[in-house]
Amino acid sequence: MYTIGVDIGGMTIKVGLVDEQGNIVIKDRVKTNTDPYVAIKDTVELINKLLEKYNVSITEITGIGIGCPGSVKDREGILVYTNNLPWYNVNFREELKKYFNLPVEVANDANAAALGEVKYGVAKGYSNAVMLTLGTGVGGGVIIDKKIFSGSDGFGTELGHTTLVYGGKLCTCGRRGCLESYASATALMEQAREEMKINKNSKMWNYVSGDIMNVDGKIVFDCMQQGDESAKKVVDTYVNYVSEGIINMLNIFRPDIFIIGGGVSSAGKVFFDKIIKKVEEEEYGYAKVVIDIVPAKLGNDAGIIGAASLIG
Ligand SMILES: [Zn+2]
Repeated sequence: MYTIGVDIGGMTIKVGLVDEQGNIVIKDRVKTNTDPYVAIKDTVELINKLLEKYNVSITEITGIGIGCPGSVKDREGILVYTNNLPWYNVNFREELKKYFNLPVEVANDANAAALGEVKYGVAKGYSNAVMLTLGTGVGGGVIIDKKIFSGSDGFGTELGHTTLVYGGKLCTCGRRGCLESYASATALMEQAREEMKINKNSKMWNYVSGDIMNVDGKIVFDCMQQGDESAKKVVDTYVNYVSEGIINMLNIFRPDIFIIGGGVSSAGKVFFDKIIKKVEEEEYGYAKVVIDIVPAKLGNDAGIIGAASLIG
């Protein structure tokens, strides 16, 4: 048996056929039409094309899972609003049921990615997990008893929009001092640029071809490992922000495992060792219980596999 995973993004819709072990056996993509009903038709066509191509009949499909950015009423299968597209109150479940007599589940993509990691990825075998995705923004997913916890109407667990610095930087959401404004990959690059402006001798300048806008997370971490003091300062400050955010989440949820996804998580062991050290120093309670803090595993396929994991 197979499940269909649909990953809706602002630019492309990715569709994959996922087997019972969580492997994508075939996948393809289509450009996201700005009209949601055209986009749904395109998705239906792509699903049918993949079934035909892989020679699988509809009776071998357990259901269709959809992950999309934005606010999702997951119990009803409705995308209410997303920053990325002019889509409002799109009832994916109702629309797809017109084409397929199958269960259809819809969730916010960060929540779906967290569930995917618990079902098939790095947190396999765990019941309770929290995932932070450090990308352009900071996404969050909370899994309790192997199920997504998404709060009333599915709008909860916006972990990136919890305050880290009272009265701090203005966030994209309108509040000040959100975790997202300090711990996203975007924030890391801002912090690196501020440091570069102060320290013109930083090695980071050697990698940006004269344009400070070219600095990225990889440059910061590489320069730190080459012994550049400025880069080390940037990483240490960033690690403090991320760690404080993690400690907040640990104090609220106390999950069995904590997952970090997004581009920054590829910085590897040096980044995770620093975070784990900082979290252990500041964890609540005198009896230190070490919680695994690990990088996400599903990578580029997290969208499709996470969506597929919504079924069953
Ligand atoms: Zn915010």
